[in-house]
Amino acid sequence: MSDDAIVMELDLSRVEDRAVETFERTFDLPTPEGGTTSCHALATVEVTRSGARYDIRARVKGTVHAECHRCAGEFDLPLEVELALIVERGRNAAPPEDPDEEDFVVVPAGDERYDIFPRVREALILELPIKVLCREDCKGVCQTCGADLNEGECGCPREGGDPRWSALRKLTGRGGKP
Ligand SMILES: [Zn+2]
Ligand SMILES: [Zn+2]
Repeated sequence: MSDDAIVMELDLSRVEDRAVETFERTFDLPTPEGGTTSCHALATVEVTRSGARYDIRARVKGTVHAECHRCAGEFDLPLEVELALIVERGRNAAPPEDPDEEDFVVVPAGDERYDIFPRVREALILELPIKVLCREDCKGVCQTCGADLNEGECGCPREGGDPRWSALRKLTGRGGKP
């Protein structure tokens, strides 16, 4: 499924004063490692209108399929982001005095719909941690036998144990790996 087909469209023409819309979507996100991961997101979007100006606030709860940096175990990582922007419709409106305050978008008068999905996706990408751990104190896997150390000691010598192993770990460059 292509992400191009995914939208979270707000029908601006139908907002009187205030409207709340929810969107539930599943799409791919690029990971910091250069891969992609599947994300399931639930967005609650609140639109407050005053004339041609739409104040948009979105709260997004996402779940991405993640792989632990230490033990390579797969798990669901929750993400939560909030975004705010102002959409001004059909004017050559000047941005607000303080452009840093909020995002400001001008759309043509004929545009009845505004797609918030690209912004939601971008906010989620920024929220993705560079290194994810399945839990804070994940012990990772044994560098020697590959056993999952969260499930207990495998019996292999650890750092400071058998010097032959630490020498080998240095040689293979894996000694510093957390
Ligand atoms: Zn882990
Ligand atoms: Zn081991």
